[in-house]
Amino acid sequence: MRIVLLGAPGSGKGTQAQRLVERFGLPQISTGDLLRSAVARGTAYGLQAKAAMDAGRLVSDDVVLGIIHDRLAETDTMRGYVLDGFPRNLVQARALAAMLRQIGKPLDAVVLIEVPYSVIVKRIAGRRSCPKCAAVYNIHDAAPGATLRCRNGADHPPLIQRPDDNEATVSKRLEVYEKSTRPLVDHYAGQGLLRRIDGDAPTDVVTQRLVGALLQPAPGRGKVQKAKPKAKAKTKAKTKAKTKVKSKAKVKTKAKPKKKPATKSRAKPKKKAKVSVKSQRTKKKAASRASSGRKDATGRGRRARR
Ligand SMILES: [Zn+2]
Repeated sequence: MRIVLLGAPGSGKGTQAQRLVERFGLPQISTGDLLRSAVARGTAYGLQAKAAMDAGRLVSDDVVLGIIHDRLAETDTMRGYVLDGFPRNLVQARALAAMLRQIGKPLDAVVLIEVPYSVIVKRIAGRRSCPKCAAVYNIHDAAPGATLRCRNGADHPPLIQRPDDNEATVSKRLEVYEKSTRPLVDHYAGQGLLRRIDGDAPTDVVTQRLVGALLQPAPGRGKVQKAKPKAKAKTKAKTKAKTKVKSKAKVKTKAKPKKKPATKSRAKPKKKAKVSVKSQRTKKKAASRASSGRKDATGRGRRARR
């Protein structure tokens, strides 16, 4: 299974990717880890990445893509993988698709973990980590008034807050996500690859939703697993409209006389009704076409009666 996990920083992508690794035995491919490792090993890409980071620049798409390309050539990815933190923008997504097309192994699923930004800000601002073992905790998980301490040993020092885990930095990171990564949602939805899950729940519950979404047979375009309320309402409307068109198409099919040649003209609107579910307008058009096709069918059916 070749999977991409999408989600804002703090949506729990990394944690959930780790769960998928345990559950399905797939390697987790995280750009952050790959970059750090390339830098540590001093590879050609690693040196370029280091130069960029040292200069306070973002690592270029070329370097990131090169590193991903090399990683995907390793044999442990034969059965699939979980990409976490990549692709981060449309350029990377298109490059990834081209890369995978070349080896004939396209993505199987893209899962968007949806968490309201207000929750993310609270989550990240509440993050504390152990300076000794790097274990991560959240002050919001602790009982009110209790001091949170590392559970990995009585001798571990008090937890600290990482400098970039404050509200101002989080807002900045969310802005970047919104601008460059968020467009991937529509991009993958358009390809019928996207599945959405509500990530505003305890880790285990989110994992269940994630696995459920992945085991779901066909992603489809309007299917959503427990999206956040807003998205839910939208999707419901979408699904409804779709069903309407579909059911009309069905009725029409029933009314269709068995004679083949006569169905030719009607086959067209039916196809359109099924395929073009992209915009409300198209849907409406398709629906009216479908229904007029139906009227047509009855009329012609009568005329065509032998
Ligand atoms: Zn510790």
